Amino acid sequence: MSRCYLAWAKDERIREKGADGGFVTATLVSALETGFIDIALVVAKKSVYEGIPVLTSNPEVVKECAGSLHGAPINLTKYVVEYAAEKRIGLPTKPCDARGIIEQAKRRQVNLDNIFMIGLNCGGTLHPLRMREMAADFYGLDPDSVVKEEIKEGKIFLVSKEAGGKEKETAIKIDELEQKGYGRRDACKSCVTKIPTSSDLACGNWGVPKGEEKKTFVEVLTAKGEAILKNAIDSGYVCIEEAPGEGIEMRRKIEAGMQKLAESWKERIDEVNALSRSGRFDFYVDALKNCIHCGACKEVCPVCACEKEAKCLDMNDERDSYAISMYNVLRIFHLMDSCIHCGQCEDVCPVDIPLTLIQRRFSERMQRHLGYTPGMSVDEKPPLYETELRWNAESMMK
Ligand SMILES: Cc1cc2nc3c(=O)[nH]c(=O)nc-3n(C[C@H](O)[C@H](O)[C@H](O)COP(=O)(O)OP(=O)(O)OC[C@H]3O[C@@H](n4cnc5c(N)ncnc54)[C@H](O)[C@@H]3O)c2cc1C
Repeated sequence: MSRCYLAWAKDERIREKGADGGFVTATLVSALETGFIDIALVVAKKSVYEGIPVLTSNPEVVKECAGSLHGAPINLTKYVVEYAAEKRIGLPTKPCDARGIIEQAKRRQVNLDNIFMIGLNCGGTLHPLRMREMAADFYGLDPDSVVKEEIKEGKIFLVSKEAGGKEKETAIKIDELEQKGYGRRDACKSCVTKIPTSSDLACGNWGVPKGEEKKTFVEVLTAKGEAILKNAIDSGYVCIEEAPGEGIEMRRKIEAGMQKLAESWKERIDEVNALSRSGRFDFYVDALKNCIHCGACKEVCPVCACEKEAKCLDMNDERDSYAISMYNVLRIFHLMDSCIHCGQCEDVCPVDIPLTLIQRRFSERMQRHLGYTPGMSVDEKPPLYETELRWNAESMMK
C-alpha cells in the first residue's frame, strides 16, 4: 500500500509562495542542488491568465515558479519529449501530464527511468480567455485588475487591485459559474482522473486538516517517488509527518465526489449522444468542415508520437474533396486507444472545432471496448499499437 504524508518546505519563503506547503518546489530545488536531477520543468506565471513552461537547471527560477495556476491549461508532455528526453528531469505533473508522459514512454519517445513526476491532484483548469470573460461578466471586474486567483471550498476566488492599490476578493461558486457555461474547461469538467496515480508522487491539499493549510498532502506511489522524497528530506529541504487517518479518508471522499460530478458532466456535454445516427453524421461533417489543416491539434497533442514531418496524416496544403477531410478521420482513428481527453487540441484550434467532444465520443467507446485506459499504467501495452485490431466495427457504430 502507498504511504501518505503531510509535508512542507523548510525554507519559509518557499512555503509561503507555494500553493500549499511548498513541498513540490522544495523537492525540485533540492533535487537540482544535490545533482539528483539535471533539469526541472516548471510553470512561470505571466499573469493570472497565462503560465508558460520553463525548463531550467537554476534552483532560483524554480523557486520563482512556486504556486498553482488554474488558468494555465498547458500539458507538459511535449516539452519533455522535445527538449529533455536524454536528461534526468523532475517536473510537476497534473494527471493529464503524467498520462501523456506514460503513453510517450510506451511509444519509446522518453525514458521513464530519467523522469521524476511530482504529481499534482487536479480539480481542473480554466481557459484563459474564458476566464477573462468570466471576470468581467460574473465578477464585474476589469480583467486586467485581477492579480490573484484561487480555487477552494467549491468556489473560484478572484483578487483584484482597486484604485488606490487596495485589494478586493470576490468568490463565486464553481457550480453556479459552470451552469452558465463558465468555470473549468469542458475537458476538465468531465475528467475522472483527479489524483495523478501514474506519477511518482501525488501532491495536493485534499486531506490536509483544517488549520494546517500550509502543508502539502503527499502520496508516495513508486520507488522513484520514494527516492526523490528521501533526497529532499536527507538534504534538509522538506519536513514530513504521517498523514492522519481522517485526512486520508477525507481525500478519498473528495476524490470520489469529484469523479461522480465528472461522470455527470460527461452526459451533459455529450450533446451528440442525443442525436440519431444520421444526425450524428451531420454533426461531425458540420463540425469538421471548417478545418484548415494547420496541424496545431497534432502539434500540441501529448500522445501523438509521429515524427514532425510525418505524412501519415496526409496534411497537404490543399484539402482533399471528402466532406470530412482524411486528416480528421485519420486523427480520430489514430487516437482511438491513446487519447487522454486533455482538450489541448480544442484549446489551440483556430476555427473552434469541438475536438474534445469528438475525440472523446470515439475514443472513450473504443477504450471501454478494449478495456484500456491510456496513461494509467506503464505495464499495459497500447492494444492497437502492437497487436491486431480485435474489435467488431459494427458494435462501435451502435
Ligand atoms: C490546475 C491545478 C489544479 C489543482 N487542483 C487541485 C485540487 O482540486 N485538489 C488538490 O488537492 N490539489 C489541487 N492542485 C494541486 C495544488 O494546488 C498544489 O499544487 C499541490 O498541493 C502542491 O502544493 P505545493 O505548495 O507543494 O506546490 P508548489 O511548491 O507551489 O509547486 C507547484 C508547482 O506546480 C507548477 N504549476 C503551477 N501551475 C501549473 C499548471 N497549471 N500545470 C502544471 N504545473 C503547474 C509550479 O510551477 C510549481 O512548480 C491543483 C494544481 C493545479 C496546477
